[in-house]
Parts: sequence; C-alpha cells; structure tokens
Amino acid sequence: MSDNNPWTRAKKQLQTAAKNFPIDPMLLARLQHPDRIVEVSVPLKRDDGSIVVYQGFRVQHNNIRGPYKGGLRFHPQVDMDEVKALSFWMTIKNAVIDVPFGGGKGGVNVDPKKMSAGELERLTREFARKLSPVIGPYTDVPAPDVNTNGTIMTWIMEEYSKIAGKETPAVITGKPLERGGSLGRPEATGLGGYYALLSFLKFKRIKTKGLTVAIQGFGNVGSFLAHYLEEEGMKVVALSDSKGGIYMPAGIPSISEVQKCKDASGRVGGCYCIGSVCDMSNMKKLGGREISPEKILELPVDILVPAALENALTKENAKKVKAHIILEMANGPTTAEADAVFKSKRITVIPDVLANSGGVAVSYFEWYQNVHKERWSKEAVFKKLKGKMDSACERVYEISRELKISLREAAYVSALKSLSKFKVRP
Ligand code: NAD
Repeated sequence: MSDNNPWTRAKKQLQTAAKNFPIDPMLLARLQHPDRIVEVSVPLKRDDGSIVVYQGFRVQHNNIRGPYKGGLRFHPQVDMDEVKALSFWMTIKNAVIDVPFGGGKGGVNVDPKKMSAGELERLTREFARKLSPVIGPYTDVPAPDVNTNGTIMTWIMEEYSKIAGKETPAVITGKPLERGGSLGRPEATGLGGYYALLSFLKFKRIKTKGLTVAIQGFGNVGSFLAHYLEEEGMKVVALSDSKGGIYMPAGIPSISEVQKCKDASGRVGGCYCIGSVCDMSNMKKLGGREISPEKILELPVDILVPAALENALTKENAKKVKAHIILEMANGPTTAEADAVFKSKRITVIPDVLANSGGVAVSYFEWYQNVHKERWSKEAVFKKLKGKMDSACERVYEISRELKISLREAAYVSALKSLSKFKVRP
C-alpha cells in the first residue's frame, strides 16, 4: 500500500511512537487494530424515483479512555482505510487533548453537493437507523466532519431518539444550539488551532503581528481560523476552497467580506472584496491573482495551513513549501514522505492531532452539558477550550524538547503516555 494510504501511514506513526515510548504490547496490539468495524448499506430513493445504494462506515477504533468519539463525513472518497485512519487519529487526538473519549469515525461515500435537500435528509436518516445499534451516549458519540453539519446531526439524533424511545441529545455532538448544541462549537476547531499556533509562537518567541498565512480549505475550520488570525494582526494572504482560491500578497483586506462573498457565490475564487463590492474587477487594485488549491501550498508565507482534506502535502510538493510553520488543521494532510522532507528542512509542523483537537474538546463540553443538563456561556466554553489547548501544547512541546523529537512524534508519545495509564484488556 502506498504512502498515501492513510491507514498505512497511521500505523507507521504508531510504530514510530512506540519506539519513543515503550508501551504494553497488548495496548500496542489493540491500537493497531480497530475494536470494531461496521459497514452498512444506505439505500436511497432519489427524487427521480431511481434507487442508489451507498456504503456507510463506522469504525470504533478504541475505547480505553471512554466512549468512541469522532465525526461522520459525507464525501465520495470515503472508504474503509480512510475511516480506519481517521478513527485511529481520534483515539490519539482525544488522548492528546485529554478528553475522556476513545476514537471513532464514520461516513458515507456520497457527494452531498449533488443531492437535493430531501435526498440528503432521507440518506442521513437511513444511515442513522443503520448506525443506531452501535452508537449511544456512553458507547459511541459521532459528530460533524467534512460536508456534514448541525442539521445532519439533528436528523441522526432524531432517528436514534425514536429508536431509543426518548430524546437523547448526548448521542451526537455538533448539534444546533436549540437542539442541545454547545455555544462555541462552530468556532471551536478554528479557535483551538489559533490557540495552538499562539502557544508555539510563544514557545519560539515569535511575534504574531504581520506574519503571513495561506489557508487551503475555507470551510468551517479554515474560515473561523482565518477570522481569529486576522483579529490577531496576522496577514492572511491566500485562501482557497476545492474550486480555487485568491492570493493577495499584501493581505486579504477583510475575511468577513470574503466569507459573505463565498456564501453568496459558492466559491472563494473571485472574491476580491473592497468594502461590500466583491468581484474580479477589484483584482488588479488589490494586486491579487487567482490561485489553485494546490499552488496555495507553495506560496512564500510564514505559516501554511492545510485545512481541507488528507494527503494535501506529498513528496512531490513538500520540497516546494516555503512556509516555516505548518499548522495542520485538516486530519492527515501530510504524507509520511512529506513529513520527512519537512523534518529535513526544519519546518515546524504543528500536528493535526493537536492543532485541530479544539473541535473534539468542545464536543466533549457539549456532551457533558447534555448529560448533566447544563448550559455554559460562550465565554466559559472558550476559557475551558483555551485551558485544554494550552496544557496539551505545553505537554507536547516539553516532550519534544526532552526527547528531541518532532512535535508530531511528541504528540503521539503524549497520547501513548495517557493511554498507558488505563488498564488494557485483551
Ligand atoms: P468543510 O467541509 O466545512 O470545509 C472543507 C473545505 O475544504 C471547503 O472549503 C472545501 O471546498 C475545501 N476542499 C475540499 N477539497 C479540497 C481540495 N482538494 N483542495 C482544496 N480545498 C478543498 O470541512 P471542515 O469541517 O472545515 O473540515 C476541514 C478539515 O478539518 C477536514 O480534514 C476535517 O476532518 C478536519 N477537522 C474538522 C473538524 C471540525 O470541527 N469541523 C475538527 C477536526 C478536524
């Protein structure tokens, strides 16, 4: 299997980590094999009356630290190896950020952008019914991921609740506020990444003001992160989505205008906004140009943020990366070969399992509020999130200094240390 196979890469990362921190062989064996793999068929009657059957997946990787926890992704590329890797990374991530959850992940190999709203709802509800025997508030708690959102989470909660015979908000997180969601959840992953970046800049005594940033992926994660970086005085110079992007070396004047433009037009490309006028005619005035999602990775910036999908950074493009810091907001955006290039070029990689763990931290807060019937303010959520991110960053940074290993290797050691505190049964 190639380097681009995420599950092969995940297992290699685990083996490397086990060299840096000796662990119980039984724990190692369990981490190398998901606890349970679920594959379901998801038949859908399309609006035109035709029937399509999609594949649905849920991988419950490990529950030593608590219920399986991780997102559900709707994307045509979803397959079992991808879901296995993502579920493994959730086990590691939840241990790194220190929430009492194990790791899980799931998805359906579907392109929701090609479906009507009704089709998407029918597909989701069917998937939820198929998953309901294996999920639950104390068993496995899914959440949103690529192309899924609060509405989709609500449909899943409703189907599960019907089968359970009672309203069960804690079965899923990432719900809209009025259906038991937490304040601050939409911002959480981007905000957590921002806190992580600030921590490492502080450790390295780098001033934030004026640092240039390129972000690949202007979805939930990338867009909130861009806002926080802008507020901090950093210069976001490039943004892209899957269709294309914009590059303005002097800095994108307003992230919120780009957001409005993207919401209206469905794409970032072309969103050259001056005041409320967002169109290509401003391109020259702003000294900007169109850029492909791939080329955005090679720009001369201080900080590069892959915030789209896995395997964005490969051995082919890694050598062309000019950033000094890579903040991995996507899951698994760097192949093993690209990682080796970054190591040799002494590029600091703030790894996904740490950088994007703010999402699951606030998912845990949401689950906790549901279980305890509490409602926290946004300020309380953000304060707790900052506390979790700062502590996790300190732990990882200390390990990396002590063992003279990369931040990724250190994050894995941090996770293995935490997992090792629990009794492992065969
Ligand atoms: P999203 O669907 O809201 O946004 C994804 C963005 O990536 C979109 O702008 C899309 O156009 C873009 N994109 C897709 N394919 C691309 C390509 N080939 N090239 C460039 N851009 C591309 O998803 P999201 O929730 O923002 O998640 C983004 C990443 O962050 C994923 O890897 C996800 O697993 C990870 N993540 C998300 C969360 C969360 O809370 N949402 C938490 C942790 C990790």
